[in-house]
Amino acid sequence: MNIEAVAVTKVNLLDLHPVAAEVALRAFADARGVGAYRGSQVARHLWTKPVATFADMSDLPVAFREELDAHFTIPRLELSTEQRSADGTRKFLFRLHDGQTIETVSIPDGNRVTFCISSQAGCALQCSFCATGLMGFARNLTPSEIAGQVRELALLPEPLSPTNIVFMGMGEPMMNWRAVDVVLSILNDPKGFGVGARHITVSTVGVLPGIQALASRKEQFRLAISVHAPNDDLRRRLMPINIKYPLQSVIDAAAAFDRRVTFEYVMLGGVNDQPAQAAELARLAKHCGAFVNLIPLHPGGAGAFTPTSPDGIRRFAAALAALGVEVAVRKSRGSDIAAACGQLRVERLRRRPPRAPDQHGQVEIP
Ligand code: SAH
Repeated sequence: MNIEAVAVTKVNLLDLHPVAAEVALRAFADARGVGAYRGSQVARHLWTKPVATFADMSDLPVAFREELDAHFTIPRLELSTEQRSADGTRKFLFRLHDGQTIETVSIPDGNRVTFCISSQAGCALQCSFCATGLMGFARNLTPSEIAGQVRELALLPEPLSPTNIVFMGMGEPMMNWRAVDVVLSILNDPKGFGVGARHITVSTVGVLPGIQALASRKEQFRLAISVHAPNDDLRRRLMPINIKYPLQSVIDAAAAFDRRVTFEYVMLGGVNDQPAQAAELARLAKHCGAFVNLIPLHPGGAGAFTPTSPDGIRRFAAALAALGVEVAVRKSRGSDIAAACGQLRVERLRRRPPRAPDQHGQVEIP
């Protein structure tokens, strides 16, 4: 075997379920006569107490670190850009081995730190207001590239650690379920990052097989559905995926989900923010006991939409609340650094400076 052939057979430990990685590492350590417990030590350095390289695993014998390096990889994501918002939101652009770039956002809020992670490079869905849709679909991310976003923030000189994780970065997680399934374990398992399942949210346009797959997991992972329109007619125009997975079937899947579901509803001025639409949306939300999150439109997405005014959003929220729906208005965060879906990458491509913070007002929960 030539050297190249050996190199390609190396196992990427960061692509494995954390328990599978530990089993493999214990067997490897045992076979090399250093004791199976050495394998568990290595496993801890993947996620729980991450280090950048095998050479950095200073609690292991040097010769064993070299053997690990010859048989396994723990690849890094290259940090290409970081932007910091005045509100503490930080946005990271990572470059992958094939030149693709993906975004990760860290959003502090009181005692909470929410990481917003990407599941695909680009996106195939072409939602009319979304910047990621504009770039089209490049490819699915691997588990190590998705969970690796969290790992990279943990490896910063001043490490960041999430209390909450949302799959609301670039891409449609349910169209990359095979990888997302493994990543959910890495994020949640005590041998991974140990973030509580109730603090991990998968956001989807409503890919039915994905919703069913998430429902079949025993952990209490949360589901958010990007609804954005209260009827098929409008939703088809905003979100082409509605042709394949019509609104009612998505709502029925949400109703069948045995945990509380969140509806995401981006407020598009004059498009989906009228009183009659609040009434339609309320019917859907009540059918599946959903919590409705109204999202101020981030400028710099796609299309020629205007955001609903803060007053208009308040009125829409009040109309839903009056109909017995639990509703909150998402605070707009990081708009001075273009932290909405896909925007940093798009801006880098356009080579424009980030938008000014005053272009988008803060909206508090009513
Ligand atoms: N594909 C998944 C997850 C990624 S998008 C999904 O659609 O749910 C995360 C959320 O950001 C979605 O609700 C999406 O519709 C919303 N979003 C996209 N562009 C936006 C914009 N310009 N302003 C506000 N929200 C936006």
